[in-house]
Amino acid sequence: MSNEQACRACHTITTESECPACHSDDLSGDFLGYVIVREPEKSIIAEKMTIDTAGKYALKVR
Ligand SMILES: [Zn+2]
Repeated sequence: MSNEQACRACHTITTESECPACHSDDLSGDFLGYVIVREPEKSIIAEKMTIDTAGKYALKVR
């Protein structure tokens, strides 16, 4: 059982009580799939999701 949650604002996945990227506390444990971005400048997915920081991102947050 994971206690990971996804930020509704920027889709960052975190185990903290607030988003480490945008400091929103609007998190959801109900997210669908995720992508790990290592080199955002080389990633087509990162470009599509407008991600410019390496990290783990939910594909869909409910
Ligand atoms: Zn966020």
